[in-house]
Amino acid sequence: MRIGRILGIPIFLHSTWVIIFAAITYSLYAQFAQQNPSWTPAQQWGVGVLTSVLFFASLLFHELAHSVVAQHYKIRVLSITLFIFGGVASIERDPSKAIQEFNIAIAGPLASGFLGGCFFGMFLLFPSNETVAALADWLWKTNLMLAVFNLLPGFPLDGGRIFRAIIWGATKNFSKATRVAGASGRLIAYAMILVGGFGVFKGFLAPGLWSVFIGFFLLNAAQESVAQAAIRETLSGLRAADVMSHEVPTVGRAISLEDYGAEVLRTGRRCHLVITDDRLVGMMNVHKLNSVPRDEWAHNSVQAVMIPRERILWATPDEPLLGLLERLLSADINQMPIVSGSDEGAAQIIGMVTRDSILRVMQTRTELGPLPAGATSK
Ligand SMILES: [Zn+2]
Repeated sequence: MRIGRILGIPIFLHSTWVIIFAAITYSLYAQFAQQNPSWTPAQQWGVGVLTSVLFFASLLFHELAHSVVAQHYKIRVLSITLFIFGGVASIERDPSKAIQEFNIAIAGPLASGFLGGCFFGMFLLFPSNETVAALADWLWKTNLMLAVFNLLPGFPLDGGRIFRAIIWGATKNFSKATRVAGASGRLIAYAMILVGGFGVFKGFLAPGLWSVFIGFFLLNAAQESVAQAAIRETLSGLRAADVMSHEVPTVGRAISLEDYGAEVLRTGRRCHLVITDDRLVGMMNVHKLNSVPRDEWAHNSVQAVMIPRERILWATPDEPLLGLLERLLSADINQMPIVSGSDEGAAQIIGMVTRDSILRVMQTRTELGPLPAGATSK
């Protein structure tokens, strides 16, 4: 569910967030009720809800801190989502320099530490106001804990990114740095699962289970981060021109979808450029074809449903393959035409890169193992 937009970044609440919001609000209510039996139930609930809301605002502030630094490096922030295990800011691409990753990562814990300081100040300033003191006391401790927990040096925590950035900067070896940070992330995850399991065994049911859940979540995320880095390593040095197919099937814009469907079935080709008098007017694919009900295929032309020329995403032959793959994934499309010589206005489509062709080269490279240094670039 989208709740708004801050600094141009859409903010989302994941459905699992409701569970954690309810759990934290209830436990705050229970804690305040126990510590302040003189409060009215309305007051206990009210302060509980307010503290809980401010806690999630703190998480949001933490993610916004990462985002502002990322934007400073011209990395687009696609969204911020609050979910059961906290918040996550999803950025368009990995930072290209170690120092950028370091600064983006450390901004979060610094922001949480800053908030911790602010709430601590609030706690000191209003000792006589019981409700403010109770709220500020919980929030400064929690924000400080958040800062410290996030600094643990293992993926996918901020500390893991900081750790990776340091190794990356020192060794100039991104994949090695990722493997080390990923391994220490797994270690932290296993430790949380073990400690949580021990806690459950000793009778601390809720915090123990919670620690086990977070441990499993971290374990999964650490493995995912390492897999992503492996993709980056496999595709390094490759450019669009290396894997593109030179064959660019075309269709006329006037043919019916019925005829287009027949062409797709006959050739197995899933994507065509739409041309008229040798001029490119759009792109057509199976996905677009399927967006029209089958019984209407006879009455619609390719032109009516194709992706018009100005909305086609294209790449140059020199574009790094990794960036191209990221663009394919973020736009949720399967193929991109490769265009050369677009400067003189005489843009010419010289090939196509598909997700399949990228997967193929990744698979082959994984099978053969890494090439000696220098052999990958031409
Ligand atoms: Zn963070």
